Amino acid sequence: MTAPGLLIVISGPSGTGKGTICQSLLKRRPDIFLSVSATTRSPRAGEIDGVHYHFRDRETFEEMIARDEFFEWAQVYDNYYGTPKGPVNTALAEGKDVLLEIDVQGALKIKKKAPDGIYIFVVPPSLDALRARITGRGTDSVEVINKRMNKAMEELAYLHEYDYIVINDILEEAVHRAESIIMAEQSRTGRFRIINDGRSDRPLVAAR
Ligand code: ADP
Ligand code: 5GP
Repeated sequence: MTAPGLLIVISGPSGTGKGTICQSLLKRRPDIFLSVSATTRSPRAGEIDGVHYHFRDRETFEEMIARDEFFEWAQVYDNYYGTPKGPVNTALAEGKDVLLEIDVQGALKIKKKAPDGIYIFVVPPSLDALRARITGRGTDSVEVINKRMNKAMEELAYLHEYDYIVINDILEEAVHRAESIIMAEQSRTGRFRIINDGRSDRPLVAAR
């Protein structure tokens, strides 16, 4: 039987650069399975249904909640966001490492269900940088930006619920650090078994 993959949760305040880090990380590590969330928010320019999100109306999303189809779901600002359970469980069962990019309340809910996951908190270098990023993204009104800034400070209080921090100042360094964390976790001795088959030309260890 294949050992289950790692569940990697990348979280942090909105606009901190989680999505940007995950996209770069996945280019370097195409072996990692990215969970595509469902949301009731409208697609932004360039976003594709089924790639960036599964865009659903409120009624459909609520039916999915009633059918218990989510690993976790949360209301983030004025919309629902949720992690569909099926694809995540299938990928983990196949031994694939799975990446979730979700907000702080969602990450804390997942941690209760999956305490063995790896929880990474992405922090902006400063509040000014965070505001500049959210503003620069050009997708949110001033009111929404202010809401997100206030929420960021509240969310930072949960830092110590996480295993690792990545300060996203220089993007390449942040991606490198996130990848290093994942590689260290993949290298834990507990994930390996010794092969003792008397063959001197074969690997000595294999993933459990
Ligand atoms: P999140 O997924 O956390 O909401 P995004 O990935 O959408 O955040 O990033 C918000 C904005 O900040 C985007 O415009 C992105 O290009 C920019 N950004 C991300 N990381 C950096 C960085 N290290 N330096 C400067 N800008 C960044
Ligand atoms: P955005 O609208 O900017 O794409 O995302 C808003 C916030 O929702 C981000 O912090 C993002 O990480 C979070 N988010 C995206 N998908 C999910 C999800 O499935 N569950 C939860 N809890 N949050 C999510």
